[in-house]
Amino acid sequence: MLLTCKELEKRLIKSDSFVPLKPRFVLIGSIPEGTRLKPATELDLTCPLLTETEQHDFYVRHDDPFNLYANNNNDDHPAKEFIEHGKLNYEKLFVVFMTTLKKLLFEMKDWIETNTNKRLSTGSAEMFCEKCQLIANRYKGLYYQHCKNCKFSVTHTKMGACLIFTC
Ligand SMILES: [Zn+2]
Repeated sequence: MLLTCKELEKRLIKSDSFVPLKPRFVLIGSIPEGTRLKPATELDLTCPLLTETEQHDFYVRHDDPFNLYANNNNDDHPAKEFIEHGKLNYEKLFVVFMTTLKKLLFEMKDWIETNTNKRLSTGSAEMFCEKCQLIANRYKGLYYQHCKNCKFSVTHTKMGACLIFTC
């Protein structure tokens, strides 16, 4: 599982939208805590972006604490693809993150078989339910919603992925 995650991280670092964001996976939850009771079948990964210095390219306004504002709107801002009206568009970032992970995992199908003796079940799991997919298409990734019928969930404090491995 860890081998697959390291390879996925390596590919994410090189993918277009994420090159300037310097993503990295950090394993969290019961495995690093040593509190896992059964053999692990999933890995919970957060995905910090940017270096500590570059994270200061954003600030929080006291009158709008739920948004990150860019210190500059210049073309050299590392997150320029995701900044709109001076603030980070979390929704766009998350949709691009999930879409990129899915694409990379599908591309890794042969790599996984060769390097782990496991098979990737590609299934047909779509991120959105039919209704939410229509909304995602209409707004071209600039706005999204998810509902109880969608197959992924969102937190607004951290970005990450839970990769589930089955035997
Ligand atoms: Zn939905």
